[in-house]
Amino acid sequence: MNRLIIGITGGIGSGKTAVSNRFQALGITIADADVAARTVVQPGSKLLSDIAKHFGPDILTVAGALNRPKLRTIIFADIDARRFLERATHGPIMDQLRSELTAATSPYAMLVLSAGTGQNPLINRMLVVDAPIELQQARVLERDGSDLETINHIIAAQPARRERLALADDIIENPGSEQALDDKVAALHQFYLDLIHHD
Ligand code: ATP
Repeated sequence: MNRLIIGITGGIGSGKTAVSNRFQALGITIADADVAARTVVQPGSKLLSDIAKHFGPDILTVAGALNRPKLRTIIFADIDARRFLERATHGPIMDQLRSELTAATSPYAMLVLSAGTGQNPLINRMLVVDAPIELQQARVLERDGSDLETINHIIAAQPARRERLALADDIIENPGSEQALDDKVAALHQFYLDLIHHD
């Protein structure tokens, strides 16, 4: 793939979805690693049947879908189970994302990654969405109604803000209003178009 593919990352509640929705509204194809991770284990998929073989049929709901809370509990407590799952899902998720990005017809495409800093071979540029921790907390409190302790656990388990920022080619600071974010996305979109045309 020699098309420009930009990864979007950022801590919980930083505004990745708010940013990617705006790029999408400008006509840019957006793939999402979390969505792909769900797509590849849909009922009827080979991967879901491999997972059920490994963990036993109790890992499925009565409707035959993956019982995610149960799987989360198992892999939280069992490192071998986590390794199995990572090995089994990695290839199908990458294939899914690659095919979505290859099918993109927009001038460039984007891949929303979760909060990680791990390099992803599908991307060739990284955009980090950044907001102060207090704002991350406030946004997630309001959006999900979860408690502060749970949110702080998630933030603590994610890579540190400075680690993420160190890997950024581009940064969108998102401490403010909807309008400010619209303007920043529009400016960055123009920058990416210029980048392609000067290549
Ligand atoms: P997660 O990691 O949990 O998926 P995220 O990084 O995708 O989070 P969003 O869901 O985009 O974050 O944003 C968190 C909340 O903050 C949402 O309710 C969103 O509408 C709101 N929000 C984000 N940016 C802004 C902004 N600039 N102005 C107002 N509200 C915002």
